Amino acid sequence: MARPSVTRIAQVKEQAAAGVDYSPRLGARCPWCGKRARIYATQPWIELTRIRYHRCENGNCVLAATGISIKSIEVDG
Ligand SMILES: [Zn+2]
Repeated sequence: MARPSVTRIAQVKEQAAAGVDYSPRLGARCPWCGKRARIYATQPWIELTRIRYHRCENGNCVLAATGISIKSIEVDG
């Protein structure tokens, strides 16, 4: 595996913290490896949005290896 660039790691960490899109059908994808990330916490709906927290479980993924949580945002409508 090629060594990932520091810049890309920083960008992906930022994306994981800021929130990725959540699809009711597909769930949330890890911003690093693109695989579906498992939910470990689901917040109640607030107005039209719902926040979830995920962790990637792909053994080859930087986010999985560092245990960084991925926030996702579902928007109703
Ligand atoms: Zn991943």
